[in-house]
Amino acid sequence: MCGIVGYIGNRDAYPVLIKGLKRLEYRGYDSAGVALLNGDTTIYKKKGKVSELEAYVRGKETLSTIGIGHTRWATHGKPSDLNAHPHQSEKGLFTIIHNGIIENYSVLKKTLMDQGMKFYSETDTEVLANLIEYIYTSEDISVEVAVSLALQKVVGAYGLLVISREDPNLMIAARRSSPLVIGLGSNEYFIASDATPIVEYTDRVIYLNNDDIALIRRDELVLKNLVSESTKVNIKTLDMSISEMEKQGYEHYMLKEIFEQPRSIMDTFRGRINSETNEIRLGGLLDVKDQLVNAKRIVVIACGTSWHAGLVGEYLIEDLARIPVEVEYASEFRYRNPMIGPDDVVLAISQSGETADTLAAIQLAREAGALVLGICNVAGSSISRETHAGVYTHAGIEIGVASTKAFTAQVTVLTMMAIMIGKEKGLLSEKRFSQLLKELNDVPGQIEKILELNEEFKHIAEMYKDASNALYLGRGVSFPVALEGALKLKEISYIHAEGYPAAEMKHGPIALIDEKMPVVFIATKDSSYEKIVSNIQEVKARNGVVIAIVTEGDSIIKEIADHVIEIPKSDESLVSLTAVVPLQLIAYHIALMRGCNVDQPRNLAKSVTVE
Ligand code: GLU
Repeated sequence: MCGIVGYIGNRDAYPVLIKGLKRLEYRGYDSAGVALLNGDTTIYKKKGKVSELEAYVRGKETLSTIGIGHTRWATHGKPSDLNAHPHQSEKGLFTIIHNGIIENYSVLKKTLMDQGMKFYSETDTEVLANLIEYIYTSEDISVEVAVSLALQKVVGAYGLLVISREDPNLMIAARRSSPLVIGLGSNEYFIASDATPIVEYTDRVIYLNNDDIALIRRDELVLKNLVSESTKVNIKTLDMSISEMEKQGYEHYMLKEIFEQPRSIMDTFRGRINSETNEIRLGGLLDVKDQLVNAKRIVVIACGTSWHAGLVGEYLIEDLARIPVEVEYASEFRYRNPMIGPDDVVLAISQSGETADTLAAIQLAREAGALVLGICNVAGSSISRETHAGVYTHAGIEIGVASTKAFTAQVTVLTMMAIMIGKEKGLLSEKRFSQLLKELNDVPGQIEKILELNEEFKHIAEMYKDASNALYLGRGVSFPVALEGALKLKEISYIHAEGYPAAEMKHGPIALIDEKMPVVFIATKDSSYEKIVSNIQEVKARNGVVIAIVTEGDSIIKEIADHVIEIPKSDESLVSLTAVVPLQLIAYHIALMRGCNVDQPRNLAKSVTVE
């Protein structure tokens, strides 16, 4: 959440900042602002989207070769011009942008107010700006030392950029928990929350580690820790292209990302499954394979859609690999004194690899001695660096705030893991193993066929776009799909929706059913098919409206349901990969028909870097 961008070099900073903010806007869109240093500091900031900031700045003075920009996801103080970043210290000596939360801001604020300092915004960030200035003006020290002394007093999370008219050729970048990447040009540096604003200028980057402070001048970058000792600079090469970040003719990123799934799933298993040699090879796990295969228990930690993928993983790993799995919300796990130890394997799942709660849960699991593995989409992200080993999903950049292709890529990785462990443990016959590989290979083609039904999904969306509630039901591995379908509808169309195990309906949600309530069943031909047909009957008996996702050729449910969506037949273990696609598209069309901002739904943002 929240996008940070900075530039120092010899070109005009403002266009770099605005372009960068547009790339980062999926991380927050409550307000946006820039600060440009040219002798003195000029700040422009506005409530709303980056385009509103751009319109506001048009025609105004922007001359500068050093500047910082921010797009906000508010934590402290409502979205407003005043609370927008950058924030300046009281005397105007320091200007900062911040991603994260200064948890001890109220104590610090009170101390500074007691010293007579004034505050103008409600943010925690302004407290940090004033703290730096207070320390700087109380002692005879440099800008750099003032920043590091201030950060030593801070409890909480920050990705931070600081500029100061006291040292106008310096930009300071610092991080604890919130991500920052520095792109290295020739006598210029690009700093951002992730690499998307950087990739068009350079592919050489440094990912800051926790408690790193980077002192950046046009001709020099020095990396230090919080107590001013120099640390090693580790330069990485970006593997990302600009075209990945474009909509490529689609109306929305979400639509593009849904349609990319045949390719993103294929990219995720390509080179990892080999149906000729009958092998699954997850390179990132080779060193820990024995420990994984012999794990007594696997604990999945994740949030949101990744948590749903984790649930699919639970069903698959328990079924195919016979290892007990628990799936935990990272935010609960980290605060509930969990039983975790050296015998456990912890699997952390996150698209961005920066989810704050998941990162904290990883820390806790590592301290308890567990082997911690990661599944994430963004190379070089914090989770990929803070886990012992892991597997990347190769879904490509996901920009739509509602996750789609990242989910199916995560499920693809979990499926490969379950099959691989099952085989290593001798639980899957050669025949079953190769059948599963073949079925996985077939998934992209099956999704292609489902995508061809887009007009049909639009038609269903048209009929139910005015519903106020919806219920999604499934059994077995389709239960997490129901949860995911409900989440998609909620987050982008603002219709209240719930996902439930189909049989649980009788323990509560059935009371909600009437002729206005769409009930979506994932009712493909699998081991619980007869049971789910009975559940559909129960809904129909109460006048509910049933939309059922069924296996191609199903004639029984066609007789009972109001609408059926036929998807190609696949192995029961793999059905979540295909069944979720119609649900993503129906949610997309409903949101669009209701006039919602599909890519940037209200109150949400991507890459949840605050807890
Ligand atoms: N806590 C800061 C604020 O509310 C930064 C939030 C963010 O990460 O965007 O302004």
